Formats: sequence, structure tokens, C-alpha cells
Amino acid sequence: MSEFDLIQRYFTRATPSAILGVGDDAALLKVRDGMELAVSTDMLVSGTHFFPDADPLLLGHKTLAVNLSDLAAMGATPRWATLALSLPSVDAVWLEQFSRGFFLLAEQHGVELIGGDTTHGPLNLSVTIMGEVPKGRALRRDGASMDDDIWVSGMLGEAALALAHQQGRIVLPQHIFAACATHLHQPQPRVALGLALRGIANSAIDISDGLLADLGHIFGRSRVGAEIDYIAIPAVGFNEGKGDVVQHCVLAGGDDYELCFTAPATCRGEIEKISVTLALPLTRIGKIVEGNGCTVRAADGGIMQIKEQGYDHFA
Ligand code: ADP
Ligand code: MG
Repeated sequence: MSEFDLIQRYFTRATPSAILGVGDDAALLKVRDGMELAVSTDMLVSGTHFFPDADPLLLGHKTLAVNLSDLAAMGATPRWATLALSLPSVDAVWLEQFSRGFFLLAEQHGVELIGGDTTHGPLNLSVTIMGEVPKGRALRRDGASMDDDIWVSGMLGEAALALAHQQGRIVLPQHIFAACATHLHQPQPRVALGLALRGIANSAIDISDGLLADLGHIFGRSRVGAEIDYIAIPAVGFNEGKGDVVQHCVLAGGDDYELCFTAPATCRGEIEKISVTLALPLTRIGKIVEGNGCTVRAADGGIMQIKEQGYDHFA
């Protein structure tokens, strides 16, 4: 199969919202009046972000999901994506499944694939996602204000726990492992939440590298500090033990793709309503304070000493 056939067969779909989609040297797009374009790229590398034999259907989903998560964190409506693929070989079954997983999620979110690049090489999947947000209304990392509540969506640590179980660092009961593995392999980007938080949240970020590392980006950009309560953090019912591995997964595990956001206390009622409407737990885990670091309080009120804040490819 030629490169052109491959693109045509697996990655070319109708793109009614683009002026020009796949097939030319560049796609042509028009952003609607009153909107800004939000653009973000996330790359998944075999051996670093996933096992080489990962299920291609789930990988197609995850490749787009991690990108949608970035737009969710900006409060942007996803519109378009490009896909840069480096493939070790042309494997029809793999491509069929990968593209199916990708397009299933794309359709759910109204995203059109408008271009990309395809080369031979080690398995590497890179998406650039584009979305629209009304002028000046994006949720940014630099907007956190003193005394804001700090909130997170969903449950934290599950993806990292699933990975720890797969790597034999922890043994999870089977039913808990199953739930955690779904979060690891099929994260659900919180796009609807990001949209609902426009005009409510002062700042937001998606948790991809671990709660403390990502929350650190909010208070670094906003020039404030944070205080969080460890027991308030929503995590799997496996918490009883709260051993070191669990604690690490919850605070710094990464791959959660939940949103962490800050909002004034006056917005609590509205945020609780959003939680009900979206059937998504939203939990207050702390607040923004003066200073420039993050304090994590244990159940007994003492300050926890944290070794690792999150995942860093080069640390
Ligand atoms: P060029 O050589 O001019 O960069 P290519 O031959 O790489 O063009 O790509 C041809 C067309 O196919 C372009 O419109 C490009 O955006 C699109 N394309 C290439 N790879 C992919 C892919 N994996 N998914 C979607 N579109 C792709
Ligand atoms: Mg090209």
C-alpha cells in the first residue's frame, strides 16, 4: 500500500467545517466571528507513553483524548485536528483499529481530521488539535486568585494505579484494577466540563503529569500558593491502605486527564449544579493562598513531605 493509499483509506473523511481538508499542501480553516483559535499538540511515543503492543483501538482513542483534554482545560470547543504518524510498517489491521478508535472519539466531539503527515519510522503518534473559544474567555493557568477554591473532576490516581499493577509494584483487587485500567487506556476528556466552567473558573489545567506537578503550573503562572487536604482528594475505594504507592499515584501519578480548576467560593453552588448536570464528581480539595508553594495536609493536620510531584521526562 502506498503512503497516499494509506492516507486515503484510513485517514480521509468528510470535513464539512473546513474550507479545505486532507489532500492539498495545507488545510484551510475559518474561525467564526468573535472566536479565538486554541491550538495544542500532544505526542504519544511507543515505549514512553504506551506499550508497543497496546490495543490499537484504544490507542486511537487515547491519541485524540489526550489532545481533547488540553482543549477542555482551555474551555475551548474542539473543531479540527491534524495527525502526524510515524509507523514501523503498514499493518492493515492495526491501521483499521487505530483509525476507528480515533474517529469514534472525533465524531463524539465534532472534531474533523483535516490533515497530517505519514512517515516510516518508530511508532509515534502526534496530534495537533484546534478549537474555538469566545474572545478573551479561555480558561488559563494564570488566573487563580487569592482564596479561590481548588477543585478536581473525577477520581485521581486510577490510571497510575493500573500501570503500577501492570508493572507489579502493587496488587489491586481485580474489580478495582478493571476500573483503573479503563481510565489508563480510555481516558474521557472533560470537554463539557471545560465549556461549562467558562465564566466561572478563574484558572484551569488538565492533569496529565500528576496533580501536584500540574497544580504547580497554575500557582506558578498565577503567582500564588496552594493548600490541599490529602483526604479530600477523590480516589478509588482502595484508599484504606493509603500506602506509599497509592499516595504517589494520587498526588503525582499522572495520566488522569481530569481537570483541576480554581474558582471563587461564591461559585460553589453553580459548580455543584454542573457536577449534577454532567454526572461527574467535582470535589473541592483545597484553596489558593499567599506564597509560592503547595502544602499538602494529612488527615491529622500535619504537613506531608512529598518526594515526587509528578512525571518529568527529563528529570
Ligand atoms: P506534503 O508532502 O505536501 O506534506 P503529504 O503527501 O505529506 O503532503 O500529505 C498529503 C495530504 O494528506 C496532506 O493534505 C496531508 O495533510 C494529509 N495527510 C498526511 N498524513 C495524514 C494523516 N496521517 N492523517 C490525515 N491526513 C494526512
Ligand atoms: Mg507532508
